[in-house]
Amino acid sequence: MIATPDYRALLDTAIEEARQGLAEGGIPIGAALYHADGRLLGCGHNRRVQEGDPSIHGETDAFRKAGRQRAYRDTIMVTTLAPCWYCSGLVRQFNIGTVVVGEAVNFAGGVDWLRENGTEVVVLDDARCVSMMGEWIAANPGLWNEDIGEE
Ligand SMILES: [Zn+2]
Repeated sequence: MIATPDYRALLDTAIEEARQGLAEGGIPIGAALYHADGRLLGCGHNRRVQEGDPSIHGETDAFRKAGRQRAYRDTIMVTTLAPCWYCSGLVRQFNIGTVVVGEAVNFAGGVDWLRENGTEVVVLDDARCVSMMGEWIAANPGLWNEDIGEE
């Protein structure tokens, strides 16, 4: 039997990625894909600005870095911000069992939709994630609207 991982410790990896993105001049959203046994499979961050690629979200970056996995039911997608529709679709498509969300205050994304469809979603309400994202959105409203497809 696998013990419940320390989700806040896993979130630290995603926050590190978000901070790296911020330091690169990008959108500070980071993510990490873990196996439920605690192994880190891959991590990444939003690189829309850095690479001019709107398809590189934190979650998709972490997912791609993890390479091919046989199954995803026992994996945990950890992300600093609630996943958008695109990333929520990724979670459903590959049957990722658990999503750990740093915060859903600045953006609620697909949290309810994932729960309604059987994904376990844990929202940590992490103050570091709330302030990092909130401050960034306040300073970059145009870029934020572009990232969530509102413009
Ligand atoms: Zn996304």
